Amino acid sequence: MNLTSAVTRLNETHDPALRSWVDSANQPDCDFSIQNLPFGVFRRAGSDESFRIGVAIGDQILDLSAAVAAGAFDGDAAAPARACRAATLNTFMAMGAHAWSAMRLTLSRILRDGSALQSTLQPCLAPQALAEYAVPAHIGDYTDFYTSVHHATNIGRLLRPDNPLLPNYKWLPIGYHGRSSSIVISGQAVRRPVSQVMRPGASAPVLAPSARLDYELEVGVYLGRGNALGEPIALDQAEQHVFGLCLFNDWSARDVQGWEYQPLGPFLSKNFASTVSPWVVTLEALAPYRAAWTRAEGDPQPLPYLDSAELRRQGAIGIELEVTLQSAAMREQGLAPHRLSHSNFRDAYWSVSQMVAHHTVNGCNLQSGDLLGSGTQSGPTPEQAGSLMELSLGGKQPLGLPSGETRTFLEDGDTVVFRGHCKATGAARIGFGEVRGTVLPARSIDA
Ligand code: MN
Repeated sequence: MNLTSAVTRLNETHDPALRSWVDSANQPDCDFSIQNLPFGVFRRAGSDESFRIGVAIGDQILDLSAAVAAGAFDGDAAAPARACRAATLNTFMAMGAHAWSAMRLTLSRILRDGSALQSTLQPCLAPQALAEYAVPAHIGDYTDFYTSVHHATNIGRLLRPDNPLLPNYKWLPIGYHGRSSSIVISGQAVRRPVSQVMRPGASAPVLAPSARLDYELEVGVYLGRGNALGEPIALDQAEQHVFGLCLFNDWSARDVQGWEYQPLGPFLSKNFASTVSPWVVTLEALAPYRAAWTRAEGDPQPLPYLDSAELRRQGAIGIELEVTLQSAAMREQGLAPHRLSHSNFRDAYWSVSQMVAHHTVNGCNLQSGDLLGSGTQSGPTPEQAGSLMELSLGGKQPLGLPSGETRTFLEDGDTVVFRGHCKATGAARIGFGEVRGTVLPARSIDA
């Protein structure tokens, strides 16, 4: 068995028959079933406690510092558990796939029905309803990819109707280096950015609040173990370096982007905020939802460093993604958030392993806690578009909301929520929770 299959192999932690002594984890639509066990960083909301690592189970969080102090971990899990007595996941992430797997196995055993540690661990639980979260890792570097060919084609068609998809797209996973300092945790409000925009028909740009603020429905990929400068990560080893996945909203100012993006790519249109979900779902938890990675007959087949039998067999990951929007007026009227679109991460043109292999093929070093954005995940049909830019056809076709309002781009007070979950025959349902953000008005511009 090669290294990649060690990550994707099913084991006792994936058994759909497992139940937890935390009752809420056994509800059929629960994101945080015992087969999931995602990691995050939390504290009691409004407290001045230090943030600490926890694992979501049902509607609770297992406080790992408390569980370690209670003596819940031994054997292969002892060292990784000690690394989880921290305010970020980086040290644990750097330990590698064997450590993550040992930790997961022990967590599964101590949280399942019949565990001898139930009464010991009961006091180590904290309700999610009373928690607040932090960005779970120190993110040294953030790179955003562009892995949905449907998104790239939709956007390309709006910008270049005669030539929607540039010729490099089908040969390499396109990406740009983003900025990690403005990555924020779910729930934190996002201020509408001010920047330079060139309005249609104008002869000079102005400094103004973005009038075309958008979201991007993305999956985030956290690097676990890095690589040394100059030493590429081969495709079939790439997943050994990936700790897990999260939901990711790469807020984007389309008017700023349209003016600044040539010739060097996105800059201020992207770096004012990106939002991560609190919970990181490990790659091992995602093993049951793998799918074949395919490339259409007529398309270029990947160069050898981006291709392997293992990739073809199970390089894709099925994650159902959805976007909802609730305007301020909808909130006041008690109207539920409105679903704008849905798509599936399985439809990405490039896999997680290909992003890692390509990123490092020139010797670039990735580090524990680095974040890769998947790029906007749009599906093959128009209603599966992962941004308002696509859904409104570049602002030409407003969308209706249940309040009677319409949207082309985001308005102040709009709350955008992404959710994601995985289902497969013979497997439990697991979910990512949510990533949420509300748009605040722009700061005033001094003359
Ligand atoms: Mn993006």
